[in-house]
Amino acid sequence: MEIKNVSVIGAGTMGNGIAHVFAQNGFPVNLIDVSEKQLAKALETITNNLDRQVKKGSIDGSVKEKTLTHIHTGSDLKSLVAQADLVIEAATENQTIKLKIFADIDAAAPAHAILASNTSSISITKIASSTKRPASVIGMHFMNPVPVMKLVEIINGYHTDKTVTEKIVALAKQLGKVPCEVNDYPGFIANRILMPMINEAIYALYEGVAGVEEIDTVMKLGMAHPMGPLQLADFIGLDVCEFILNVMYDGFKNPKYAPCPLLVNMVNAGSLGKKSGEGFYKYAAGSKELVVSGQFKKLV
Ligand code: NAD
Repeated sequence: MEIKNVSVIGAGTMGNGIAHVFAQNGFPVNLIDVSEKQLAKALETITNNLDRQVKKGSIDGSVKEKTLTHIHTGSDLKSLVAQADLVIEAATENQTIKLKIFADIDAAAPAHAILASNTSSISITKIASSTKRPASVIGMHFMNPVPVMKLVEIINGYHTDKTVTEKIVALAKQLGKVPCEVNDYPGFIANRILMPMINEAIYALYEGVAGVEEIDTVMKLGMAHPMGPLQLADFIGLDVCEFILNVMYDGFKNPKYAPCPLLVNMVNAGSLGKKSGEGFYKYAAGSKELVVSGQFKKLV
């Protein structure tokens, strides 16, 4: 069956971006969250992002209005997935929460609906096991910010049906994205390669090989990365980096993925990166200037 109606669960950073992209491409979207406050914030973010697109000339005002009319928000998961051809879950990265959501949507969504998760690290096969339709469960891992980033990692769970993958690959292309198909192993591809690089950068700092700015400058200028690994870790959130490394550490039972003790210490200290105001750098409100965090000013 053709994918027409889309429901997105979770209206945070990723959920609002996913709803935005589908709505802009003409899909009616039900955006669902347990928090009314988050839903209001998501609509505000989508409106601001559309305004920015209008200002840049990438869309005109009528597209903005049409996009907004395609988005309906609410908290009643059961009724808001009842007509869905595709449900995309983008709720908090917590396995217990996701397993419960998938059991609920499995019970409430039509039998033909495809159930996708935007998880960064939790097993799609495990998520699928909480439903009675594991062949219709797939990973659709969008990148942040969703309206800007082209990549969608498409993750095949152990039981994902080939026709489901084909539909989702075609859909991602229809959204103007570039889908990349991968199999369901810890970290998929994006985080399996990114997180060890970030962890190694933190180890280099921890062992006193170089300072924050030196490590980031080597990777920016030497490898043409737009952002150094330590700055990127601050943007992702150090708690998120630690969580994903632990998923790979547990999943592969391989010590090479163990989070660096410095990363663990910083998370325990509440230095989570940009969102807490300080990680490897300090983030003054409204300022774009990066200041190396007090304790990392000098080479250790
Ligand atoms: P977020 O914390 O910004 O938003 C999560 C939202 O889920 C919140 O609004 C919360 O109220 C809602 N929620 C929690 N439980 C719910 C439930 N039972 N039903 C409905 N809504 C519920 O998180 P995020 O950064 O948008 O991440 C969402 C997912 O996307 C995670 O799985 C994460 O791993 C993945 N992801 C995040 C990024 C990123 O850069 N932030 C990138 C790729 C993938």
